[in-house]
Amino acid sequence: MKKVRASIGTLGVLGLELVQMDTPPTTAYLQIFTEKRCSANCLFCAQARESQADITFIARGVYIPADLEKVVLRLKIAFERGYLSRACIQTALYNGWWEDTVYLIKTIRNESLIPISLSVFPLDDWRYKELIGMGIEELVIPLDACTREIFDKIKGKNAGGPYSWEGHMDGLMRASRIFKKVGTHLMLGLGENDEEAVRIIAGLWETAVNPALFYYTYVPGTQLAQKENQDSVRHYRTVQLARYLIVEGMAAYPGMSFSNGVLCNFGIGKEIVLAIINEGRAFQTSGCAGCNRPMANETYSNIFNFPRKLDSKDIEKIKHDMGIF
Ligand code: SF4
Repeated sequence: MKKVRASIGTLGVLGLELVQMDTPPTTAYLQIFTEKRCSANCLFCAQARESQADITFIARGVYIPADLEKVVLRLKIAFERGYLSRACIQTALYNGWWEDTVYLIKTIRNESLIPISLSVFPLDDWRYKELIGMGIEELVIPLDACTREIFDKIKGKNAGGPYSWEGHMDGLMRASRIFKKVGTHLMLGLGENDEEAVRIIAGLWETAVNPALFYYTYVPGTQLAQKENQDSVRHYRTVQLARYLIVEGMAAYPGMSFSNGVLCNFGIGKEIVLAIINEGRAFQTSGCAGCNRPMANETYSNIFNFPRKLDSKDIEKIKHDMGIF
């Protein structure tokens, strides 16, 4: 039996596990199946070479091995009925990862036209072109870090990993010339300040790379245990809002003001900022269209990315957390 790893929420939507969910995922979160650890060594990752963590975890999500054939058949039905609007495939670096990835993509494509995102490290152009031919709709190369220094520390040379900031940037730039849609993941809460996060978001967006925001989540057994600090929530909300204003074309990084790295002015009228906060969309999950990632980084009491529309209580809490109104 061929297997695929699928998040527990995805298996719930597919009817392969009984899961009680507040908000179900609108994307099927999958990972190529292997029992090997990844040969890279990203310090935050459960699957890293030197991690002691349970490899079924990706951030807070549990990815359970499941029968590939059943998953793909049900994925087709869930897409046709409108329960799922995308499939997201996560990879890992091991001998045979490319063959496993190609097999999974082709197996899904043989059954369904569901848009597929692939999250992967930088590849040669010929592989990008093959992926386009297989029907990959959005290519995502996770930078994870907002600065070169943090990158080196958590997944580059200081972590004993094979990746470099330059290599990831080059991979993203080449991908954005080949794919119509390219994205990245940025994890906040790793020591970057508001300005560093907003600067990289603006730079990526200018080169047609869509940055999806995550909050760093400690997984027991991984090699990084970054502490949350009192400013974490304000920082996350501020960067989320700045990202939204940038990608919606309502504000630009050069017009924003910072004091010691802390954003103090979005460069647009306060009444507009307030209207955007009240509207709430800025705080919903960002990334590929249709990706809501429920509970990927959150607990019920601490939600960083809202996987659904916000209610008035959520908005009041956000205003309080941002401390600006
Ligand atoms: S933004 Fe969502 S769908 Fe896109 S690669 Fe990231 S997790 Fe997958």
